[in-house]
Amino acid sequence: MADSEVVRAGEGEVYDVELDENILKANRELAEENQNLLKKNNVVAVDVMGSIGAGKTSLIERLADQLSKRYRIAALKGDLTTTIDAEMIRRHGVEVVPINTGKECHLDANLVRKALKRLPLNKIDLLFIENVGNLICPAEFPLGSEKRLVVISVTEGPYMVVKHPFIFLDAEVVAINKIDLASAMGVEIKNLRADVKKVNPKSEVVFTNGRTGEGVNRIAEALGL
Ligand code: MG
Ligand code: ZN
Repeated sequence: MADSEVVRAGEGEVYDVELDENILKANRELAEENQNLLKKNNVVAVDVMGSIGAGKTSLIERLADQLSKRYRIAALKGDLTTTIDAEMIRRHGVEVVPINTGKECHLDANLVRKALKRLPLNKIDLLFIENVGNLICPAEFPLGSEKRLVVISVTEGPYMVVKHPFIFLDAEVVAINKIDLASAMGVEIKNLRADVKKVNPKSEVVFTNGRTGEGVNRIAEALGL
């Protein structure tokens, strides 16, 4: 396509309250408070981000199974209106605080701060925060977690990383999930990994299958757990 055919939004041209600098600054300050609170209680928090259907919940369930002997685990689960995922995670013996965002497509530090008040933080070692399924704005809203895990699935196609680079910038770990479906999807997982590494060379990229648990131990290792 010729470059001149593309309509390009100028800086700040798209109306989006989420990109208001004051809101982002207020969020960063609250994220810092969350981080201090978590540190004081020796809680390691992991913000789990990725599209709807990438497999965030399944991977949290598998991680909970693998790690529950060594850590006291809790979870915050962001969703628009449902608690389906929260209940799935709860079945693994994890204390879960569901967060419903209504129409908002991401968690923010204020919601996380409210949810943290519902947890006995001094009795928790590890906290998974499953963000709302979305690849775009969660990147703009730090929550105060110590680590960030981005989950992508081969079912999102071969170009998903190059199309959504920002979510990968601050991720310590990226899980490329549903690898058993890669050939059916015509996706080369090595290429996806190369795309992630190009955006964020410091990230650890692991291949996983949330259904079987394959590779989940490598997520834990990469997170330093
Ligand atoms: Mg989920
Ligand atoms: Zn959003």
